[in-house]
Amino acid sequence: MQYYNLKNQAEVVSFEEATLKGLGSGKGLYFPQEIPRLSTDFMKYIGRHSKEEIGVEVMKPYVAGSLPDNVLEDIVRDTINFPFPLMKINENIYSLELFHGPTFAFKDVGARFMSRCLAYFNRNSDTKTTVLVATSGDTGGAVANGFEGIDNVNVVILYPSGKVSHVQELQLTTGGNNITALEVKGTFDDCQDLVKKAFADDDLNKKLKLTSANSINVARWLPQQLYYFTGYTQWINQNTEPPVISVPSGNFGNICAGILAHISGLPVKHFIAACNVNDTIPRFLQNGSYDPKPAVATVSNAMDIAEPSNFVRILEIFNENISSLKEVLSSISVDDETTKDTIRDIYYREHYLLDPHGAVAFIALRKYLETHPQDQGLILETAHPVKFPDVIQHELKIGVPVPHRAEHLFKKEKHSVVINPDFNEVKDFLMAHA
Ligand SMILES: *Cc1c(COP(=O)(O)O)cnc(C)c1O
Repeated sequence: MQYYNLKNQAEVVSFEEATLKGLGSGKGLYFPQEIPRLSTDFMKYIGRHSKEEIGVEVMKPYVAGSLPDNVLEDIVRDTINFPFPLMKINENIYSLELFHGPTFAFKDVGARFMSRCLAYFNRNSDTKTTVLVATSGDTGGAVANGFEGIDNVNVVILYPSGKVSHVQELQLTTGGNNITALEVKGTFDDCQDLVKKAFADDDLNKKLKLTSANSINVARWLPQQLYYFTGYTQWINQNTEPPVISVPSGNFGNICAGILAHISGLPVKHFIAACNVNDTIPRFLQNGSYDPKPAVATVSNAMDIAEPSNFVRILEIFNENISSLKEVLSSISVDDETTKDTIRDIYYREHYLLDPHGAVAFIALRKYLETHPQDQGLILETAHPVKFPDVIQHELKIGVPVPHRAEHLFKKEKHSVVINPDFNEVKDFLMAHA
C-alpha cells in the first residue's frame, strides 16, 4: 500500500515511510491510496476466525511492501494479547470494553502495534528515532508502556499540566530510561501545536529522526479497525441487525478507523461521534460552518480537543461530500452534568460502571435511539473507570476496585520537566537531550 499526503497528493510514500515520518510536508496527514475491500466469503464466515486472524487479514493490505506476512502475524499476536469483551448494559445498548490492555485505555492497541513496527523498521540501523507525542491523557501512558525498552527509540511526551488524572499522570511520568515527560503549562491543543511545530522545524529535523505516535501516525491509526471487527463477531452471536456504533471522540482517529472498516465491508448501521462540550464537529455537521472554539476542560478529558486532527481523513473518505458523510455519521455533544448523572444512574440501575468517556458515548447513543427505536447499538468503552477517581470516587462516591495490574503504579515516583507552551523551550530541550 502507498500513502499520499492530504496536503500534497503528489507526495506518495510506503507504510514504512509514513510510519517513520508521521506527517508529510506542510503538516499533511497520510492517507491510503485505496481502501481495501474484504471478500464476501471472509465477511460471511467472520465469526469462525480468531481475532488474530481477523487482525492479519484486515491489516495485510495496509502494510504490504513494508512488513512480511510472518512479521505482521507476530506483531498482531503481540499487540492484541488481551480480551475485548462485549457486555450488555440494557435491552438496546452494549459496551465493547477496550480497556483490558496494560494502561487501561483503548490506545494500547495502536501504541503497541506502532512500537513493534518501529522496532522492526529500525532493526538494522543504529540511528535513534525520537517519538514525539502530545497527550490529552491516555496516549501518553499507552505510548510510554508500548515503547518502554524498545531499542533505538526515545520517547518525548507532552502533556497539559493539571489536566490529566492522577493515574494517567503516573502512567506517563514513570516510564523507563527512554521515556521523558514534558509537563506543559497549557492545554492539550497547545501540546499538539508544539508537536506540529517541531515536525516542521528544520534544525530539529536535521539533528533528529522525528516521528509522532499520535493517531495522525498511520501505524497507530489503522490497527484500531480491529475493535470494530472483534465487536462485530461478538455482536452477531446475539443480534441479527448490524449495530449503531457510538464512539467517544476527541481527535476522531478511532471513529475514522471504524468508518474505514465499514467501507472495507464491515456491516454497521450508523456511526455516532460522541463529543463532550468541545463540539466543533457536532456544530459543523449541523450548520456547515467549521468554527473551532478554544478547548475547555471536562470530566472526559481525553476528548478536550477543539480541532480534531483526523477529521480531514473522514472528509477524504467521503470525497468531502458532506451529505453522504451524514448518512454514515452523526455527531452529538454531551455536557458534564448529564455525563455524571448518567454514570450514577447506570451504575445503580443497570449495575454497570461507565467511565466518563464511555458515558458520553452512552448518552449520545441513547439519544440517537430515541428517534431510531428499531435499532440497537454498542458503545466503545475506551477507558477503565479507575483512571478517573476524581469524578467517580470523590464526586459520585462510587468505589472503584483498583485492578491488580494498576497497584504497582502508586508506588512509583513522578518525573517530569515543566515547560511553558513556547516552542523555543521544546526545541531547546530536544536539541539538548533527545
Ligand atoms: C483518546 C481517547 C478518546 C478519543 O479518541 P480519538 O481517537 O482521539 O477520537 C476517547 N476516550 C478515551 C478514554 C481516550 O483515551
